[in-house]
Amino acid sequence: MKKIDANTDIYCILGYPVRHSKSPMMHNKAFEILGINACYVAFEIRPGDLGDAIKSMKALGIKGANITIPFKEDVIPLLDSISDEARDIGAVNTIKNDDGILRGFNTDGVGFVASLKENLINPKGLKVLVLGAGGASRAIVYSLIKEGAHVYISNRTMQKAILLCNQMRQFSTSIQTLDINDITAKDTISDVSLIVNTTSLGLKPDDPLPIPATYLGKQHIVCDIIYKKTPLLKEASRLGIKTIDGSGMLLHQGVIAFEIWTGLQPPVEEMRKQLEVV
Ligand code: NAP
Repeated sequence: MKKIDANTDIYCILGYPVRHSKSPMMHNKAFEILGINACYVAFEIRPGDLGDAIKSMKALGIKGANITIPFKEDVIPLLDSISDEARDIGAVNTIKNDDGILRGFNTDGVGFVASLKENLINPKGLKVLVLGAGGASRAIVYSLIKEGAHVYISNRTMQKAILLCNQMRQFSTSIQTLDINDITAKDTISDVSLIVNTTSLGLKPDDPLPIPATYLGKQHIVCDIIYKKTPLLKEASRLGIKTIDGSGMLLHQGVIAFEIWTGLQPPVEEMRKQLEVV
């Protein structure tokens, strides 16, 4: 049991809902192993209360925070500064409190790329189909094109995919939209190496696949950023296709956030084990 005393530093995750989060287990284990007198807790913040919650970080001297659904964008104007990356992505998932100055960062995209690299996948020159154009997609697409991948974006609401593509063109021209319902889409998809689901389809066990199973082939690697075995990952595995779930992204966005807060390299494998605990 962790010893809490009058000098314990507080870190937290702010979100709504947030009670399912595995981040407290992951970060508390890292603090314990490194002998840091700190504690990481989850605060469920009602959507109208975000401003008060952020102000309280200063008042209470909370050292750092992760920001999750639905606040990653709304938090930006409440901070004193944000990193170039967070500005370009348009979302913050990590805050560092530097003696009362709140600085925002985004570690989702780099965390995703780190999870690819630990699976020995180098995004440089890779053709990638990203399904979805929401907040997580923005961070992932940004990091993939910065790493030199060629990205196709598809989304249920294609207008959002077009908007995201246009925003990201300032960073790379290796990006285009693809409507998977288009009759020529199957040919294009057969030529990509990596398919990434960033939609919320797959959170429920009976969700339909975000892409027809007939589009999947042995030349693909199929990744789902949801951190469980989704219907897409199950189907890909059944077809003998290599799969990657979202636990690596969750781990590495946390590892990078920890480094930002403490300046220390956390115990990655011990943190990973915490995510495996049901
Ligand atoms: P978001 O901004 O709300 O975006 C949701 C995306 O899913 C949109 O592209 C949306 O399409 C699509 N979508 C939702 N319902 C759909 C349906 N029935 N059919 C087809 N498409 C549908 O959410 P987000 O923040 O990007 O998060 C997306 C997922 O990523 C969540 O499941 C979340 O748990 C996961 N995530 C994982 C990590 C990690 O560390 N592993 C980090 C962040 C997020 P429309 O634009 O058409 O609505």
